[in-house]
Amino acid sequence: MSLLDRIAEQVRACTRCRLSATRTRAVPGVGPEDARIMFIGEGSGHDEDLQGEPFVGPAGQMLTRLLESIGLARADVYISNIVKCRPPQNRDPRPDEVEACREYLDGQIACIEPTLICTLGTPALRTLVDPKASVTKVNGTIIERHGLTFVPLIHPAAGLHNESMQEPIGVGFRRLGQVLAQRG
Ligand code: URA
Ligand code: SF4
Repeated sequence: MSLLDRIAEQVRACTRCRLSATRTRAVPGVGPEDARIMFIGEGSGHDEDLQGEPFVGPAGQMLTRLLESIGLARADVYISNIVKCRPPQNRDPRPDEVEACREYLDGQIACIEPTLICTLGTPALRTLVDPKASVTKVNGTIIERHGLTFVPLIHPAAGLHNESMQEPIGVGFRRLGQVLAQRG
């Protein structure tokens, strides 16, 4: 069993934080171990919690379309979340939950060694890149931090709740497409 599989097994059995009490299934992450790009969201929603897979609900369908719009196949990227269990009523993950879950994500990053990490939404950006950053300001830009290269993006779900966000979401992904084209 690969180290990545072992992390997934630990996540599925994890009771390190209170989210384990209310989840249906933990959601470790999905994608090939040799993926070059990782996408990191916030935490499971209703559908992810039931299926045990990240980004399979409406936000996930949006993400899949946005990936395809810049020539990325969902199957070629690694997709995970800051916390691996669903926060009740989809509230924001709390700092102690993020902290408890952090080791799993760090382990996944160490296994995959991605050339690029795309954060999706504010919690992923503030956890991984900069606790004070504003996602609308850095949307689609390159940020080097902790020896890793990040491209923060607005969360695809923002476009589901607010139609006016669809335009900046598309802008961020198009910028990501340009970054990928330049880096080859
Ligand atoms: N939103 C997220 O941030 N992650 C998921 O897995 C699904 C929706
Ligand atoms: Fe464990 Fe993370 Fe789930 Fe908390 S959110 S129970 S730390 S896997």
